[in-house]
Amino acid sequence: MTPKPQRIALLWDIDGTLLDTKGIAAKQLVESFNGVTGRCGTIYPGQYSGFTDFEIVLDLLQRAGLSRDIARAEEILTHYGIRLKDRLLENPPRLLADVQTVFQKIELLPYIQHFIGTGNSKLGAEAKITASGLKKYFTGNSYFISTQARVSRDQIIRAAAEEISLPILVIGDSDRDIFSAKKNCLKVLAMATGHHKVDKLKSLNPDFLLGENWNAKEFLDVISLFSLEIRD
Ligand SMILES: [Mg+2]
Repeated sequence: MTPKPQRIALLWDIDGTLLDTKGIAAKQLVESFNGVTGRCGTIYPGQYSGFTDFEIVLDLLQRAGLSRDIARAEEILTHYGIRLKDRLLENPPRLLADVQTVFQKIELLPYIQHFIGTGNSKLGAEAKITASGLKKYFTGNSYFISTQARVSRDQIIRAAAEEISLPILVIGDSDRDIFSAKKNCLKVLAMATGHHKVDKLKSLNPDFLLGENWNAKEFLDVISLFSLEIRD
């Protein structure tokens, strides 16, 4: 008799892994920072890759000579999230590599469940996932995001590891995704779809690695390997 497929959880990073907002999110974050604080913040492309929203805003506050006030950071991120939603509905994010096909195929595989494990704050994450058409693949309680109480990526991934009662595969594009997965004893699939090149990611020894233009077959092969490894 064929064994029943092992139930697994895929814990997806957002930016550089699922989608690219083409600079719109960073632009809005700077505008919100400047609007709320009256100072001039800047974000260069890739500067904060792998950072959480709270880490970025706290750093911007510090660079502007202001205190790293977490409530102020929340205020800026709320301002940002509300405006980002409208901006992305007008100009939706681009889905990366073969993400669209993978979600369509996995919809037919009920033993695989999707979760978000992101450094995005609540409104930012929701705006990006909704505008990119991926919302239907994630239930309301499948978001592990950056909050005042969970500023670092390690804390976010730890919360997911504690709350999801399935074997988890972390999927991300940055060095920080790999470090956080390893710190929490989780397997990690790195993909070179963001600001980090494949050689750089490879040097950090992720359990699985896909290139910049990965396709659905390559992705599903990784899932099969992961499922085999956790069965042993
Ligand atoms: Mg990322």
